[in-house]
Amino acid sequence: MYNWDDPINEALNKPEPKISEPKTDNLSEPTIQANNIDAQEGLTGIENIEKGASRIRVDDKAIINCRADLNQLVPFKYEWAWKKYLDGSANHWMPEEIAMHDDIKLWNDPKGLTEDERKIVEVNLGFFSTADSLVANNLVLAVYRHITNPECRQYLLRQAFEEAIHTHAYTYCVQSLGLEETRIFNMYREIPAVATKAEWALPFTQSLGDPNFKTGSKENNQRLLRDLIAFYVVFEGIFFYVGFTQILSMGRRNKLTGVAQQFQYILRDESMHMNFGIDVINQIKLENPELWTDSFKSEMIDLIMTGVKLETQYAYDTMPKPILGINASLYEEFIKFIANRRLTQVGLPEQFPGATNPFEWMSEIMDLKKEKNFFETRVTEYKTGGQLKFD
Ligand code: FE
Repeated sequence: MYNWDDPINEALNKPEPKISEPKTDNLSEPTIQANNIDAQEGLTGIENIEKGASRIRVDDKAIINCRADLNQLVPFKYEWAWKKYLDGSANHWMPEEIAMHDDIKLWNDPKGLTEDERKIVEVNLGFFSTADSLVANNLVLAVYRHITNPECRQYLLRQAFEEAIHTHAYTYCVQSLGLEETRIFNMYREIPAVATKAEWALPFTQSLGDPNFKTGSKENNQRLLRDLIAFYVVFEGIFFYVGFTQILSMGRRNKLTGVAQQFQYILRDESMHMNFGIDVINQIKLENPELWTDSFKSEMIDLIMTGVKLETQYAYDTMPKPILGINASLYEEFIKFIANRRLTQVGLPEQFPGATNPFEWMSEIMDLKKEKNFFETRVTEYKTGGQLKFD
């Protein structure tokens, strides 16, 4: 019987999935043929049902351009995707669960926070309140269709809902503190520091959002891979880090601990999103090695380096003078340290040899050194009903 109380252990302890033997003798044919699709393009999952087709085998499955029925979750090919789906589900939380009373009191106290501290909070709420909608739109309108694997799609659906929860959380913070909603939500169109990163990311998703866009050719498969690297590695993997650590540093100083806890829960979800994206990127590379050419690798390094430049600029724009024991030049080193990790995670060479993490306390909160184990820690804490603490 499935252990609903402990899905992670359930996933870890269960035996390898058994591959169902097809019951027809039509073994050499793909299980379901598409109706009127290009020879190399994958299915979408909404084709007509081919009655009596042979059963799905693991080997029929592929992360992109798959021609086996996309409506059958099992047998699993990518256990890592299913495990992340279970982890994400076990990690479910809602913004209203976090007490905001102390934050409201502090925000309304004229002497509670400095002007610089208030600005940091507002600008970050401005950036994130629209950034997670952009990520969700990229998933739903651009990426989902082209990832042709049911267990990965299962995680993408979970991720899309988590992005909605994050936008909910930012809205909840804005409303709790009594900030002017339209001013915060329009910052990504009105404040250059907030607008720049979203503006940079948009062309990558627009490229895939074209209804006529199809994967299948080398060029278009690379376009998909480029979007995944732009969003998972740069947007969620680099662009979120200055803002998150600015807010977490406030919580660490016992200021706006409710807002900080919202951000910490979000960061832990984001860490999982990014790791899922990196697994997807590496799986696409593995199954389609012809895409990972020297020129494409060099283009991806440039893309990540542009991300480093923009996030560094964000640090200087949002933190023109030292605040909370942090200054923007320390962030330069921090971003380089993160960028090295992102580059190596997708198999590219480090561009900043020797870069170190100047914020050890952030490393503990964010668990950068143990990113893969980070989530399990949180699940345990969350499931026992304890509040996360800044120690
Ligand atoms: Fe995300």
